Order: sequence, then C-alpha cells, then structure tokens
Amino acid sequence: MSGRTHARARPERTCVGCRERAAKRDLLRIVLIKGGCAPDPRGTLPGRGAYVHPVPVCLDLAVRRRAFPRALRAQGPLDTAELREYVEAR
Ligand SMILES: [Zn+2]
Repeated sequence: MSGRTHARARPERTCVGCRERAAKRDLLRIVLIKGGCAPDPRGTLPGRGAYVHPVPVCLDLAVRRRAFPRALRAQGPLDTAELREYVEAR
C-alpha cells in the first residue's frame, strides 16, 4: 500500500455548450487566438481554455449563450469560423 490516493484520476470538464460534464479527452479545448476561438485538440496551447464537445450542436449552443467570451474572459463576440470549420470537418 503506497497510501496515495487518486481522487482525480479521470479529469472532467464541463462542455460550455450543453453544460454537461464529460471526460476531458472527449471534449475539444478552445483557446483564444487573435480575437477568435481556435481549436486546441492536443490541449497544449498556453492561456485559458474552454471545453466543448466537438459537435456542431454544442458549438451552436455555446455561441448562442456567449459562453466562449465568458469562459475565455474576453470582451465582446469572438470569431468562431475557424472552430466551426474544424468541428464540421470531423
Ligand atoms: Zn456538449
């Protein structure tokens, strides 16, 4: 017995679209780059990240709720064109 506990062995994040919790690896990390939402599939880019299911329906929900500016602490609407292209191409 090592005595170590693994309380967060499976990291979870909340999807900013449907607001459901999911395993981090099932969500797409979004970061802010030059005033737009950029996909960060490897989760390696610096800065604040928001998480969303990589599906159009969750992306639409997040945009409608203005969840990205809130989650990324940005002012005003963010460009999601690149993100949408990425999600729709999957
Ligand atoms: Zn979702």
